[in-house]
Amino acid sequence: MAEKNDYKGTMNLPETDFPMRANLAAREPEWLKFWEEIDVYARGLEANADGEPFVLHDGPPYANGHIHMGTAYNKVLKDLIVKYKSMRGHYAPYVPGWDCHGQPIEHQVEKNLGPEKMAKIGQAKLRELCREYALEFVDVQREEFKRLGVQGDWDDPYLTLKPAYEAGNVEIFKKMYLDGAIYKGAKPIHWCIRCHTALAEAEIEYGDERSDSIYVAFAFTDTTPWDAEGPVSVLIWTTTPWTLPANVAVTLAEDADYVGVKLADGRVLVMAEELVESVGAVAGWDGATVLAPRVKGSALAGLHYAQPVHEDVQGVIITGAHVDLSTGTGAVHTAPGHGDEDYVVGLQFGLPMPMPVLDDGTFDAGGGPFAGMNVWDANPRIVEWLRERGTLVASTVIDHSYPHCWRCKQPVIFRATEQWFVSMEKTGLRDHAMRAIGEVEWIPGWSVNRISAMVADRPDWCISRQRAWGVPVPVFTCAKCGETVATEATFDAVIELFRTEGADAWFTRRPDEYLPADTACSRCGAGVAGLMPEDDIVDVWWESGVSHTSVLEEREELHRPAELYLEGSDQHRGWFQSSLLTSVGAYDAAPFKGVLTHGFIVDGDGRKMSKSLGNVISPLDVIAKSGADIIRLWVAASDYSQDVSVSDEILDRTGEAYRRIRNTFRFLLSNLSDFDPADAVAWDDMPELDRFALVQLSDLVDRVTTSYDAWRFHQVFHAVHGYCVTELSSFYLDVLKDRLYADGASSAERRSAQTVLAQILLALVRLTAPVLSFTTEEVWQFMPASIRGDAVSVHLAGWPHVEVAAGEAARLREAYAVVLAVREDVTKAIEEARTVGTVGKSQEALLSITVPETSLAVLEARGRASLAEMFIVSAVELQAGATDEVSVEVARADGEKCPRCWNWRALGSDGLCGRCSSVVAHLG
Ligand SMILES: [Zn+2]
Ligand SMILES: [Zn+2]
Ligand SMILES: [Zn+2]
Repeated sequence: MAEKNDYKGTMNLPETDFPMRANLAAREPEWLKFWEEIDVYARGLEANADGEPFVLHDGPPYANGHIHMGTAYNKVLKDLIVKYKSMRGHYAPYVPGWDCHGQPIEHQVEKNLGPEKMAKIGQAKLRELCREYALEFVDVQREEFKRLGVQGDWDDPYLTLKPAYEAGNVEIFKKMYLDGAIYKGAKPIHWCIRCHTALAEAEIEYGDERSDSIYVAFAFTDTTPWDAEGPVSVLIWTTTPWTLPANVAVTLAEDADYVGVKLADGRVLVMAEELVESVGAVAGWDGATVLAPRVKGSALAGLHYAQPVHEDVQGVIITGAHVDLSTGTGAVHTAPGHGDEDYVVGLQFGLPMPMPVLDDGTFDAGGGPFAGMNVWDANPRIVEWLRERGTLVASTVIDHSYPHCWRCKQPVIFRATEQWFVSMEKTGLRDHAMRAIGEVEWIPGWSVNRISAMVADRPDWCISRQRAWGVPVPVFTCAKCGETVATEATFDAVIELFRTEGADAWFTRRPDEYLPADTACSRCGAGVAGLMPEDDIVDVWWESGVSHTSVLEEREELHRPAELYLEGSDQHRGWFQSSLLTSVGAYDAAPFKGVLTHGFIVDGDGRKMSKSLGNVISPLDVIAKSGADIIRLWVAASDYSQDVSVSDEILDRTGEAYRRIRNTFRFLLSNLSDFDPADAVAWDDMPELDRFALVQLSDLVDRVTTSYDAWRFHQVFHAVHGYCVTELSSFYLDVLKDRLYADGASSAERRSAQTVLAQILLALVRLTAPVLSFTTEEVWQFMPASIRGDAVSVHLAGWPHVEVAAGEAARLREAYAVVLAVREDVTKAIEEARTVGTVGKSQEALLSITVPETSLAVLEARGRASLAEMFIVSAVELQAGATDEVSVEVARADGEKCPRCWNWRALGSDGLCGRCSSVVAHLG
């Protein structure tokens, strides 16, 4: 109100100390302190002690580095759910956790130490340093998550390095091992020669790599159909020359046609007929001729050839279903120790599995002329060596997608080693897991396809790692005969050892100190003193996976299965899957009733965030600049079923939405400063507009509650934001201003409006509390105690419910749909009238509205004065029209502007409108 008003002192002007400017960055820490003082988390649990339990089980982030937008998003999403459930009366504990073991930490500690110091310290000291490192980042991240407003048991989180947690690993291992699901076997697996460890599929990243692409002739040592034409070889193609020393076979497609190709120099190369042309183009064959006969791959099976690297060794031709006739030669170089499919056909044909590559990537004596060389260095030497021998038919390079180590980013190799595996078949784990998947609710719905496909296709799970920082594979080896010793009694002793001393004891104590004295090797009878503890540790995915036992079973306030697991879509390969497999393996049941999957965080253009692109947004920067509530509102407003975008522009838009919601709270507070609920007006005594406002509020509560229950937070946001803008700001509150400011302070009309405003405030502040945790607390504390009641914090205030009479609500919805539709036409008409100068303000307008017959009855029933109030005009005339059209004519009303309320009225002798005159007279 820029215009001067002499009657200001006679009006009920809005009044509140609730600040317009949020200043969240400075204010939020005060609320964090407040929550700590009142211990809001414990109070919430206490208040809901008898409520239906709801356990959202936290997936542990890795205790390394600061939080980023992805971890912030994930934790806030969880917090929304936990707070909502708690406000609905559920007993909803939230125990945050951290993944503390594993290679990234070990790698970092190694790097910090440097190779010299590293060589001097033992495993026990290395583990101590890793522990310190992990705990330091637990502390860092804990403070950062708390700063986001996430509530939970921060004083007693679960850590995978705690003794009881470590013992849980052994409990699950014991169950699955004694069941027969865990076995030791040699199998080719992804292997990082830099990190000296096996890698699980989840630890592999695919990236572009340039490789040699070579065609090599293996000379037949048996008679072939083409012998009359010259020396005959089978032609293979490979992009990994370093695997040739381990070659034992060449696999052909059983039903494909193979021919001999006679080169200009007289050599004959055998290959699939349909690939002759493409290979010829690469190799530059001029004057080559395709020879008869044409034979099936199966006809050549069993023939022998000279191993390409080792003298006096022969390989054999076999057939296999995996031979691909779209690239290569149709004759596949087969080294069972270096490839999955090779391994499978190797088993099928009983082939040997030589493994000349050591764990650091160098060849042992089995590498022949390349012994002692690193595989990557050996590659070009092997190519040269073949060229010198005349067996290299062609050589180029190709760029292709190749697996890399997730940690060191180096290309990995496929290498067979002795490892521990969880079998997907031996105990029916795959089938049982597929059944369990069907019993879980997957949100969004399509995510069930993702997990199903991954479990259906996955190979056996390699769970051993050749590292120091983790939980040991809890078995023993007989020093005398090499037999594995692992029984119920040894497992129980290890569980007890870990529970009391932690897994560190594995590395510092001798087995005879903690195993039963009568433990003995079942094969050779060697006693407990002759047993060696296993060197390998378990995969970190196994470790975090067993949290259903180490946390959900272990802690009193939790239970298994949890109601909900909630993580990013990468966890279908990681934690969701390792949790599912270990739970099904141990209990034949999923560890969760529901799994919510959210997308990745990307920038405004949908690109992954990366330092090199310069598009990284740190949640800590956003908090420092705008406050955690802006992040929380962004989380709620985003649709997690897809990748989630964040950018400065998106956060600015979020800030604007935040201000609209904040201003709504401020308006409500400022008009309730003189309201006592004892003066509340009953439903039946309210003006109809107020009753309709309560119907709208009740509809909002229903809509928002339904959206929360379906975990559709972006719909919660849109419902609340839309309500503030459309229902409140552009309609109800706008209309109400005259009544609130100009009616008698304690008039029934104004008290009725305040009764509704108090209800709106009470509902809105609680509906948004899970999202705007800080701002709603601020609002709550600014509310008069008489309105907000006993709850010391909004987070303990329970869920709103707005009572309206169902029958009347339905009638009001129907009637006001008509009123609001006409109101849109009115607004448009007044806008035009103001443009051409017919009226200055809407208050000056006299409306002549023509509506269809049916609408006329609805409008008349509201009363013309009430319509004038709702349209914010001086007066309304109504008539029925012949068509379905609504038309609005705007004229300048008779009368003058009341200097107090600025409505356009006939003024009395005191110069005021009738209403204002009586209000002022009452004030004396
Ligand atoms: Zn690596
Ligand atoms: Zn033995
Ligand atoms: Zn007036």
